[in-house]
Amino acid sequence: MSDVEVPESHPRYESLLTRHRIEEGVEKGITSRQGLIAQGRGEAFDYLLGERTTGSADAAARAAAAHLLLADHPVLSVNGNVAALCPGELVELAEVVGADLEVNLFNRTDERMRAIVDHLRDHGAEAVRGLTADGRIPGIDHERAKVDAEGIGDADVVLVPLEDGDRAEALGAMGKVELVVDLNPMSRSAQVATVPIVDNVIRAIPNVTRHARDLADASEAELHAVVDGFDAETTLAAAERAIREGVDDEGDGENES
Ligand code: ATP
Ligand code: MG
Repeated sequence: MSDVEVPESHPRYESLLTRHRIEEGVEKGITSRQGLIAQGRGEAFDYLLGERTTGSADAAARAAAAHLLLADHPVLSVNGNVAALCPGELVELAEVVGADLEVNLFNRTDERMRAIVDHLRDHGAEAVRGLTADGRIPGIDHERAKVDAEGIGDADVVLVPLEDGDRAEALGAMGKVELVVDLNPMSRSAQVATVPIVDNVIRAIPNVTRHARDLADASEAELHAVVDGFDAETTLAAAERAIREGVDDEGDGENES
């Protein structure tokens, strides 16, 4: 909704901007209407987290960056929400770590696939995978199992922001290192991830890029040390604690819109 101006001075500027981007995504045929519901769920958690990147989310972003740099074939999966929220940021991350971009939709339609591919190209992407759809994720029903055999099918490390729980689990079962961005630490996607980044994708993607740039000259041993120093369970527990503290703070009126 570019016709609605949000003053930058608004205390919840970023949250309102995010909402407008999703609305615009729906209008352009990039985001599904169910994507609006996902956005609402995400906003609720973000609100409780104080709409900020927590220390544990930052550590997860650094571990994700190290995994992407160590990967033989990293792929960044793009769905309708992510395409609407941070297309340019995803293109930039793909460049910095040498990853492929692949459109990967839960509610797959040819029209939406094409709209997202075009949208990513408008934001500077050269090759975008996903249209070939000649690979399958085992154990998932036909439409939802589709991936590119030479994209996600072949990847050793996949970044899946806002992925559905079933597919996140199945991708993990394929032996892939799975980097998940999800504001809900209790969601199955976050629970099955090798690295769960509990943060808004709008902040998380540029943050992973920043860490990847910072680690660009690190040795393999240093990258392995970052990866080995990360613990998913500790991170999820820290995120749950931050949310509980957010609920407590509500009583103090600290987090008002
Ligand atoms: P399940 O328990 O089956 O995993 P779900 O909670 O994942 O269900 P969905 O609506 O399919 O339900 O998934 C949306 C997920 O994406 C939610 O966990 C939500 O917190 C998260 N989410 C939504 N918007 C964002 C965002 N901008 N950044 C990060 N995570 C987001
Ligand atoms: Mg989920």
